[in-house]
Amino acid sequence: MADIIKLLPDHVANQIAAGEVVQRPASVVKELLENAIDAGATLIKLIVKEGGKNLIQVVDNGVGMSNTDARLSFERHATSKIQKAEDLFNLNTNGFRGEALASIAAIAHVELQTKTETDEIGTSIKIEGSKIISQEPTVTPKGTSMVVKNLFFNIPARRNFLKSNQVELRHITDEFHRVAMAHPKIAFHFYNNGSELFNLPQDNFRKRIVHIFGSKTNQKLVPIAEETPVVKIWGFVNKPEFAKKSRGEQFFFVNNRFIKSPYLHHAVVSAFDGLIKSDTYPGYFIYMDVDPATIDINIHPTKTEVKFDDEHTLYAILRSTVKHSLGQFNVVPEIDFEEDPNLKTPYSYKDKEVVMPQVTVDSGFNPFADTATKKTGTGASNAKSYTKTNTKGWENLYEGLGDSAVKQNDFSSVQFESETITGSIFESEESNEQSAASTIQLRRKYIITSIKSGMVVIDQSRAHQRVLYEKFLKNITVKQAVSQQLLFPLTLSFSNNDIQIIEEIKDSLVNIGFVFSKIEKESIEITGLPILVAESEVSMILEQLISDCQMDVTGDSFSQTDLLSKTLAKSLSVKTGEILDETSQLALVNDLFACKESQLSPFNKPTYITITENDIDKKFI
Ligand code: ADP
Ligand code: MG
Repeated sequence: MADIIKLLPDHVANQIAAGEVVQRPASVVKELLENAIDAGATLIKLIVKEGGKNLIQVVDNGVGMSNTDARLSFERHATSKIQKAEDLFNLNTNGFRGEALASIAAIAHVELQTKTETDEIGTSIKIEGSKIISQEPTVTPKGTSMVVKNLFFNIPARRNFLKSNQVELRHITDEFHRVAMAHPKIAFHFYNNGSELFNLPQDNFRKRIVHIFGSKTNQKLVPIAEETPVVKIWGFVNKPEFAKKSRGEQFFFVNNRFIKSPYLHHAVVSAFDGLIKSDTYPGYFIYMDVDPATIDINIHPTKTEVKFDDEHTLYAILRSTVKHSLGQFNVVPEIDFEEDPNLKTPYSYKDKEVVMPQVTVDSGFNPFADTATKKTGTGASNAKSYTKTNTKGWENLYEGLGDSAVKQNDFSSVQFESETITGSIFESEESNEQSAASTIQLRRKYIITSIKSGMVVIDQSRAHQRVLYEKFLKNITVKQAVSQQLLFPLTLSFSNNDIQIIEEIKDSLVNIGFVFSKIEKESIEITGLPILVAESEVSMILEQLISDCQMDVTGDSFSQTDLLSKTLAKSLSVKTGEILDETSQLALVNDLFACKESQLSPFNKPTYITITENDIDKKFI
């Protein structure tokens, strides 16, 4: 048989390598920023257009490259950072594989301009799909400018796979954050489509974090610090009360490199044991310096995973460091700040006689005299005290929505899925001995009501989610929501990044009743809210929306509407554990069966089950 194995031509090999290194515009941004840092830059500019699909430019004031180096830098395995394999274990640079520029040049149009301190004249090189188009001398300041245009121009499948500009920009911003947080001594500018997103001056670590995540971050941070022969740790964890339902601001840096480590994440989370709810995550910004000989960075092409020699020790040290700082933080307020003057004993009391405190007991008190389940008006008022957000009573939530269907559901027209049923599914009032009291609440979780064939058990929270979900979906698309004017405008601060997301979803928010009077760099001002949203909940709801949008990678408008409606429905629905009075129970039942898809919650869980008389009869045999 003839020989069949051939060496791949360089440009094909580069394209294949590019598949590993460059997944999306953000990967290019990461590689170019890292090169600029390795070149010793003190000022780095990042410029992107159209989510980086059409343009990514990184300009630095680093050491630059000679004419020969400039040409060589695009060759595969061409690097100035290591010379022999052992150097891998003494790395002080971000890059070392020498394949980023070769990979990027294989799948994009690249223009490099660079000059060293000592050279009189600089070099300009143009490359398209690994082919050198031109190389000529040029006048340019010391440093390097790398322009990457039309990413994946020669791999349409990859280009089509890219998400919307907004989603790609978000990925770029994430990479930018990580690099900028690791290098506060370097000033960064970041422009998107001609407008400035970030202008970060040289700073210390704390100020850099605050600059990136917004001024309200400052009050959340608790410093951590520890130095052992194995590792030096410093940075910040967020105070427990700022733990979020979603993962987000969690960063590890090892030797100035952002890394992901589920194992070390666990160490931090476990240090918060007992301080935060089990379904929330603490935010943290943790920097670690270890001997480069004790880690292997070369286990992943994007270099975000690292292998530590002694991970267990690191885990233990990290956990106790965080625990220690949280402990310190927890005692401080008691000793020092925010003393409640009401609890202080006035100095003039020092000579007063001590009197034993008296306890008075109401001997006629009967805890069963007035219970929440009582079928009178008092029951309803008790219920309200449990449903803390719905002080007006659940059924009043619909006031002003202009949706008459809510109050006048004609159940005779609702078709119920059960073979034995014809016509009306609910017993008409006359034939029902219990008359109007046709619903009961079970264990603050289920609403039970009778139907002709037996009974239906409704999950109150899921049912309300379904009702709200359809309402919001309708409001967003039909744009007919009513808002409540606020007496005083509400100002909320957010990080620059969060504001970007709010801008993205603003139209939908307006459609459901939010009124924004100002959206600025780090804050928004709200003058109107959807009827269902209480002022005290706005901040929590917007944060949930932002984090859900961040998770959502599709970024198209249908899924955005759907996502918003789901998040709002989930946040605002009646929860398990809340007592509903009878009117509310009935309204919920009516609303549920007026829904288009009453059987499932927006998250595809069943909202109710039916138990037929037959089923019950069988149990008694
Ligand atoms: P690596 O960073 O792994 O060495 P790259 O392909 O990213 O590989 O870069 C190749 C080489 O090009 C680098 O080793 C460096 O010498 C040079 N280089 C790249 N970017 C810059 C820059 N912004 N300034 C100076 N030199 C650079
Ligand atoms: Mg590099």
